[in-house]
Amino acid sequence: MSDETNDAGRTSWVPGADGHVMFPLQNLPFGVFSVNDVPRVGVAIGDMILDMAAIEAAGLLRPDPDLTVFDVPALNPFMSVGRFAWGETRRNLSRLLGGEDPRLKDNPILSGRALVRADQAKLHMPFAVAEFTDFHASREHACNLTALLCGPDHALPANWDHMPIAHNGRASTVIVSGTGVRRPMGQLKAGEEKRPRFAPSAGLDFELELGAVVGVRSAIGTRLSTSEADAAIFGYVLLNDWSARDIQHWECVPLGPFQGKVFATTISPWVVTTAALAPFRTPPPPRRTPLLPHLREGMPHNLDIELGVSLQARDGDAAEVTRTNARHLYFSAAQQLAHHSACGCAMSIGDLLGSGTISGDGPGSYGSLFELTWNGSRPLTLPGGAVRTFLEDGDMVTMRGWCSRAGRVPIGFGTCAGVVQPAI
Ligand code: CA
Repeated sequence: MSDETNDAGRTSWVPGADGHVMFPLQNLPFGVFSVNDVPRVGVAIGDMILDMAAIEAAGLLRPDPDLTVFDVPALNPFMSVGRFAWGETRRNLSRLLGGEDPRLKDNPILSGRALVRADQAKLHMPFAVAEFTDFHASREHACNLTALLCGPDHALPANWDHMPIAHNGRASTVIVSGTGVRRPMGQLKAGEEKRPRFAPSAGLDFELELGAVVGVRSAIGTRLSTSEADAAIFGYVLLNDWSARDIQHWECVPLGPFQGKVFATTISPWVVTTAALAPFRTPPPPRRTPLLPHLREGMPHNLDIELGVSLQARDGDAAEVTRTNARHLYFSAAQQLAHHSACGCAMSIGDLLGSGTISGDGPGSYGSLFELTWNGSRPLTLPGGAVRTFLEDGDMVTMRGWCSRAGRVPIGFGTCAGVVQPAI
């Protein structure tokens, strides 16, 4: 639910925060940063980062009176203090940076120490990923994939409209934006080849996804309702689930994907909280068939987040190759999490749920090159003349996400970027 922290009329005394396209006072995303090699929790405000460890040490915010939760290199300890403390921290932080609580604004020594210029900081992985589950929750993407792999007249599998399909990925290879992505080696076999060969993937692709960060633990045997699941999500990141299509297609029958997906998944460094996104909730697409009770929603859990991907060849200019919106997802993150726990699966603090590639209903809104180039049959021409079907070494993929709505202050996620490195 929206509260006073989302009010459009609120302003900050931090220079550059008001009107900032990504990080105004209404956003306050959490991340992990360092200036001198000591990573700790920070909050983005305008072009600055508020050093939460300094604020905690000065006693201005103490989410846990007995433990240090911000002078640590991950958000997991803060997430573990629970939802009530998340909300309390957000309200108190908003008052400190809004000036109603003057203890930071009127203390130039502390504010000078605690506010760090973002361009002088290094951003790290924001949380320790417990486990990573990759869903398949965009109906448009699922239909495109089915058409490309099985033929245009093939229907989606019968289960698709009834539950969010997923596979378990690898937490070990989730990396933060800016980390290079090594082209994977793998088993490949083209249709006309008699035997597979082991070679660098020639079908490297991006997948535009939204990642939900689970902030509340649930015990084995516990089944979360969609509203409990929604409340257990601390926040969201942009997520690029890099995929090697040629490896994936050879391995994925009958039990994939595996190697085609697990080499790298990039996330954006700032976790935009569920609380900050409250004004941007939106109803899901129309249901094609009634959902079973455990997946029904009492309120809209979908999010109106505009998403774009730009592609830049080594010597060329960046060009936006797709634009879509997270509101197209057929199953919300709350439904994904509710379904994940429906069998009694325990969920952990730091679990990451990828939405699956988010595609819209037209060719300019597809969330992967596999769809944008229709499996290589419609190459893209980039500024400077480079032609792409899949990614080449040196290509940079940058994802962006932002929310804007009449009467609301726009907020954003920043970027989720990676450059393709040659295979070893
Ligand atoms: Ca994926």
